[in-house]
Amino acid sequence: MKGVLVEKDDSGIRAELRELDEQQLPEGNVTIRVHWSSFNYKDVLAITGKMPVIRSFPMVPGIDLAGVVESSDDDRYQVGQEVLVTGYGIGEAHWGGYAELARVPGDWLVPLPEGLTLRQSMAIGTAGFTAMLCVMAMERGGVTPEQGPILVTGAGGGVGSVAIGLLSKLGYEVAAVSGRPEAEGYLKELGASEVLPRSDFSEPGKPLGKERWAGAVDVVGSHTLANICASTQYDGVVTACGLAGGMEFPATVAPFILRGVTLVGIDSVQCKQPRRSEAWQRLVEDLDLAKLETMTNEIQLDDVIETAKNWGQSDHRGRVVVSVQG
Ligand code: NDP
Repeated sequence: MKGVLVEKDDSGIRAELRELDEQQLPEGNVTIRVHWSSFNYKDVLAITGKMPVIRSFPMVPGIDLAGVVESSDDDRYQVGQEVLVTGYGIGEAHWGGYAELARVPGDWLVPLPEGLTLRQSMAIGTAGFTAMLCVMAMERGGVTPEQGPILVTGAGGGVGSVAIGLLSKLGYEVAAVSGRPEAEGYLKELGASEVLPRSDFSEPGKPLGKERWAGAVDVVGSHTLANICASTQYDGVVTACGLAGGMEFPATVAPFILRGVTLVGIDSVQCKQPRRSEAWQRLVEDLDLAKLETMTNEIQLDDVIETAKNWGQSDHRGRVVVSVQG
């Protein structure tokens, strides 16, 4: 089978597309012929070695995959069934989606939701699934469209683009934050009503500011997350899912103890099954698939390594799906 393999030696991390032996597939009771994978920020880190995402070498990266069951020892999954996997450490600790075959425990699988194609499920992928988890967390915290605008950071990226699409379809007013002024037209087409520059949020700010946001989806972290909390309305809900701007959180407790702001951490990797199924069902209902297509670019397995190397410099927007069978 063809696949991308990341190896580590004394000179560092090296990724290569090559023929792999099926015998090397990891343990698991379901083998899947992978048709589509996707490209996420974490895959860039894994392939370039910019952060130590991979926990055992050699590794097939790719934190998402969708395909057809090739063989199964799990009664819940039959040969020929369409399935997907996101998270659970695939592409990090267990071989992932950038190879023609994958083998995983049946507990990690999600049957392809009715209403989605395999390709659409990967256009959503971990990024879109995470955006949905953020929306659901705001809803659990009592946020409704009537309460005011929702701020979405890293708006031009995968999580941000899907979050804007979901929130606007659900009737929220969305303010998008982007470092790319040229993305304004794209973000407004997805449903943002205003686009704010990244620099408005990225510098150290005051413990409290004007109450602006009913909720937020933040993929950036650091000062951006601190500033968002400081300008969130009384009882508002901020969801933190990323670290594109840094891992630190240089904030004060003022928004939490004076305005009852809730900060919710979002993890897509180990998200438990009931919430996982609910999120996929909600994505079918609440995401405009035509809009999803406009935010989706397609590459081949052969392009994966180059795409990872150019990620920071390229003008990519939204989501990238990887055609694995060519
Ligand atoms: P993308 O690379 O697709 O998008 C990230 C976006 O963030 C960019 O497009 C850019 O948007 C913005 N950005 C990039 N660098 C910076 C910076 N230095 N400061 C501020 N903004 C920046 O990544 P994803 O959408 O896939 O992931 C976004 C983040 O969410 C990552 O940190 C990722 O690790 C995390 N994540 C977490 C998950 C979880 O389970 N918690 C799951 C999925 C992702 P623009 O140009 O519009 O400003």
